[in-house]
Amino acid sequence: MSGIYIHIPFCKQACNYCNFHFATSLLKKDALLAAIRKEIALTVKDQHALIHTIYFGGGTPSLLHIDEIASLLQAIRSFYKVDAHAEVTLEANPDDITEEKLQGWKSMGINRLSIGIQSFFKEDLQWMNRAHNAGQAERSLQLALAYFENITIDLIYGTPGLTHERWQQNVAKAIAMGVPHLSCYALTVEPKTPLDKLIRLQKKEDVNPGVQSEQFLLLMDWAKQAGYEHYEISNFAKPGFRSRHNASYWQGKPYVGIGPSAHSFNGAERRWNIANNQKYMDALEKEALPFEKEVLTPVQKLNEYIMISLRTVEGIDLKKMLQEERSAVLKAAQKYIKQQLLLHEDDVLRLTNEGKLYADGIAADLFF
Ligand code: SF4
Repeated sequence: MSGIYIHIPFCKQACNYCNFHFATSLLKKDALLAAIRKEIALTVKDQHALIHTIYFGGGTPSLLHIDEIASLLQAIRSFYKVDAHAEVTLEANPDDITEEKLQGWKSMGINRLSIGIQSFFKEDLQWMNRAHNAGQAERSLQLALAYFENITIDLIYGTPGLTHERWQQNVAKAIAMGVPHLSCYALTVEPKTPLDKLIRLQKKEDVNPGVQSEQFLLLMDWAKQAGYEHYEISNFAKPGFRSRHNASYWQGKPYVGIGPSAHSFNGAERRWNIANNQKYMDALEKEALPFEKEVLTPVQKLNEYIMISLRTVEGIDLKKMLQEERSAVLKAAQKYIKQQLLLHEDDVLRLTNEGKLYADGIAADLFF
């Protein structure tokens, strides 16, 4: 399996917590899209695998006109071999969703939407400086569900001011509306974001990790009761609705990332494109691919496997390791098994719900 990720580096306004690469000016949009089409044509020299998933992320791909998305999809289809049943996801923000766009996306072959709802409450949306309001969150989702069966929404918890009750109402609304996939993230204060600055200036309250942990534990219960499978630490799916694209990242499968800041992996090396729109366009103007790369050592590959698989329901399969690797991981895991943060069954290590609160720390402790 092989996937393509296309990064659309434009947003209407900056959400205060966001550290993705994007610009809020659309002045260079046409030139940037031309550069992306050129990159699609240039990268294909390295790629012969059948493409099973395509993912338009960002940034905000839904900002683009229908024809612009269609031209990118067309470029992918003309340079790559795309499976007839490929999963094709588009990230969309509620304020961009209209019937016309939904129809257009559907007719060009987009078959999965990832909607950045974040919250159904105006207090939270304003706190995050989202471009949409509470009414748009609900209406856009209703409308999207009339056109698309395969929908995921993003929700954020642990925002200061988000009570457990309001968090419950957010999750309950998504469940009641029949959303088959939820991606739920604890609000993280990333360095150099506007939120980081506002907290330092004491203009915004800092996050409370204890409240975040409580809200995560509650979420896991609610999702389970509603029949969602908690298949990755931030992701919950009704049967048959797991994200095939993201699952292939977690399974270490190769993918191509196109657009400024996009990452690629070919099984042996990681590449990351320059996170600067102008420099990206300048490089492609000269037919150059603007990336840096790192060849993974066997130890790095092993550590990546530990980190990523621990976050998934599949867990760390010790049977896939050499005997000495297996022994070392199992030895380091003992204290977490005793604390009931890890389960060891059928020679697979999986996090318990409590353990999921400490996933990164536990993974780091198991590293070589
Ligand atoms: S819309 Fe998404 S990518 Fe754009 S600023 Fe907000 S969170 Fe970041």
